[in-house]
Amino acid sequence: SNNGQVRVRFAPSPTGYLHVGGARTALFNYLFARKTNGKFILRIEDTDLERSEKVFEEQLINALRWLGLDWDEGPDIGGPYGPYRQSERTELYHYYAQELIKQGKAYEVYAYPEEIEQLREKLLAEGKAPHYTREMLEPYNTAERKREYEEKGLRPAIYFSMPRKDYVINDVVKGEVVFKAGSVGDFALLRSNGMPTYNYACVIDDGLMKITHVLRGDDHLSNTVKQVALYEALGWPVPVFGHVSMILGPDGSKLSKRHGATSVEEFKARGYLPEALVNFLALLGWSHPEGKEILTKEELISSFSLERLVKNPAIFNPDKLRWM
Ligand code: GLU
Repeated sequence: SNNGQVRVRFAPSPTGYLHVGGARTALFNYLFARKTNGKFILRIEDTDLERSEKVFEEQLINALRWLGLDWDEGPDIGGPYGPYRQSERTELYHYYAQELIKQGKAYEVYAYPEEIEQLREKLLAEGKAPHYTREMLEPYNTAERKREYEEKGLRPAIYFSMPRKDYVINDVVKGEVVFKAGSVGDFALLRSNGMPTYNYACVIDDGLMKITHVLRGDDHLSNTVKQVALYEALGWPVPVFGHVSMILGPDGSKLSKRHGATSVEEFKARGYLPEALVNFLALLGWSHPEGKEILTKEELISSFSLERLVKNPAIFNPDKLRWM
């Protein structure tokens, strides 16, 4: 174990600018780490080769640095640390996938993406949930198909046998969340290009990095059941989860570009100071015990607690963003 030390992470995908939602997630993790003398880790989730771009990674890093959200570890020795990058960790994902196969908890699938899609459509047409099982997928693994894959230099996808049982998650923000048996089917861990899927890489990394608390947006709540099942299959401790509600625009719809400036870059370009943005972000989903609204970073650190993360969605109101 890690002697009870808090270890948290921010795990952005480098597919765009750092928006207020992501910046807020990074900030809550950072504040929690600093408050508890824990560690804050930055991990770039760049396994989606088509959507990930180096320039976005650089922008994310610059935005975090500008906000003063410095991280504590990286793959390099000494410092300042580079972030961890999932694209540099593929061997680990392959290693644990083989372990799960050996234990009968995962299996190879030699089906083409269009065949999986056809299977999905067939299930839906039959009025069934599009949940795959080993019995549905393994028939694709014919000797002829394996030969074809070898000739084309393809690798089989690896699927996880999702246990059909109830899962209960005690989320520090949402409370008890129940996922009924069979609400999720088997899912891919590795694709035939050898890259891991989000849920799988996330669990391998959070597990190996000894992450104790996963604080993120509640758009990932439904993924959490898959992640818990993977921790159990690997025999690893399950972290504490806290899913904060999405930020809404003043009109009550999910915050997006049409609500105006929403990226850290835009606020920076408009001349706001990072201290003001940090103060503003902290109050989007967290509140000070005495209702104080003007807070320095030091005050945010000393008064931060997970208990005061709010359950209801925060409304984004840039009028509250003050000039300092
Ligand atoms: N890369 C994921 C995202 O940006 C990370 C989610 C997580 O924190 O697990 O949404």
